[in-house]
Parts: sequence; C-alpha cells; structure tokens
Amino acid sequence: MSLPVPLISLRGVTKVYGSGQNQLLALKGIDLDIQQGEFVAIMGPSGSGKSTVMNILGCLDTPSQGQYLFKGAHVESLTRDQRARLRRQYLGFVFQGFNLLARTSAQENVELPLLYRGDDISVRREAAAMALKSVGLAGWERHTPSELSGGQQQRVAIARAIVTAPAVVLADEPTGNLDTRRSHEIMGLLLALNRDHGITVLMVTHEPDMAAYAHRLVHFVDGGIAQDRVNPHPITSEQGVIPTATEN
Ligand code: ADP
Repeated sequence: MSLPVPLISLRGVTKVYGSGQNQLLALKGIDLDIQQGEFVAIMGPSGSGKSTVMNILGCLDTPSQGQYLFKGAHVESLTRDQRARLRRQYLGFVFQGFNLLARTSAQENVELPLLYRGDDISVRREAAAMALKSVGLAGWERHTPSELSGGQQQRVAIARAIVTAPAVVLADEPTGNLDTRRSHEIMGLLLALNRDHGITVLMVTHEPDMAAYAHRLVHFVDGGIAQDRVNPHPITSEQGVIPTATEN
C-alpha cells in the first residue's frame, strides 16, 4: 500500500532576501511533509525563518528555490491569481494581532472572506453567524472589536479563518497578545478545530505551554529545521478551562 500524498510538501525550499552584499538566506533548503489532520507547532528563536516559511505555506510568498506541493500541485509554479484562489479555497489565517477591521462588526469581519469569494448576502449571513456560534460568540455579532476583549477578538478572527471551511489554519503566534487563561481558551478552540473538524493546524509559537497542544513540534534554527519530533503527550482537552465568551 502506498503512503497518502501529504497535504503539504516542501522540498529543498530556500528563501533569499535582498541581493549582493545584503543578501540573506532566510531558509536554507527546507524539506517538510505535513499530512492532512496534523496539528504542528513551529518553534525557534527570532530570526530563524518561522514567518518566512509560514508566508510560503500560506501562499503569501514564493520560495527562491525548491518546491511547494499542496495536495500534489506545484504551488511555486502557479500565477499570483492562482495562488490567491488556492489561499481562499483551502487556507485560513489567524494572527497575533487579530487583524480585524475596526469599526466593523464581528459579523461583518467574519463575512469578509465570503464577500471576497462572491457569496450571496444570505449565504454570508448564515455562515458567519454559525462560525461565530462555533467559537462561543453567539449574541456578539453586532459588537465591534473595540467592544470585545482580546480573547473575544481572537475568537472572531478564528471564526473568520474557518468560515470558508478551510483545509488548513495557519496561526502565527495566536496567543502572543493574550493572558494565560485566554491563551488556553484559544488553544482549546484550535484543538477542537483539529480534533472535531479534521482541520490541519500549523501554528507558530514561542510558548512551550501552547506548543504542548500540538502533536508534532518542528524547531527552526538559523533557516533550517533543527528538530522535528512527535509530541508524545499532547494536551487533548482544554485543561478544565471553560470558554467564557460572555465575559468582556
Ligand atoms: P522568525 O519568524 O523566525 O523570527 P523570519 O522568517 O521573520 O524569522 O526571518 C528570517 C530571517 O530573514 C531574519 O534574518 C530576518 O531578518 C530576515 N527577513 C525576514 N523578512 C525579510 C525581508 N522582507 N527582507 C529582508 N530580510 C528579511
């Protein structure tokens, strides 16, 4: 029996920034396979290449050399438009700073990816309301980001990431701006997306307590993968932290 084609496969991926004397090799020939349904934490010191690899995986940037296969398709040879389409169809993004539109309701923030996709207003309304409900924010649809706590804003951002039913959620330091309790609540949500919905989660974090939820830990050092290991005892539930979406 042959092994399944990985969802994501990087082969000899390099990234060079700048030119001449200012040239910097940010990724030094990365090989990385990620299967559908994995929950991977990407760790490593500042400047080790984590954001660079996430930008490539998220189809926001392209490798200088090497191959990026997504479901077996060569992403590095797609046009910019084709990459954007792939991004819209398969990928959801969660950022450290939430990146919500200010003065725009939670509902409208979550509807945005569907608007870009050209969905009708009735489809957008229903899907966004369901996504907000699934992150524990039913009843908060009309609130703007400034009326929500950091944890709630990140929930809205997660709802926005999953409203398109992506195959992969890419999360860049998703708990970096949150206190410990809210961080665990957000990790509980990511865990549930992975466990209950089969969404592949790729998360950059420098916090071992948050990486502990992942099933696999990939350590970057100096533009290369220094360690790639299975987490033998990942956290499998939210450790008794009950989401309290009603609190501000
Ligand atoms: P990390 O996310 O692990 O902190 P990055 O991927 O941001 O690391 O950066 C890797 C290396 O590439 C660093 O030395 C950084 O200074 C450099 N770098 C990142 N982005 C750029 C850019 N747009 N132009 C030039 N150098 C960059």
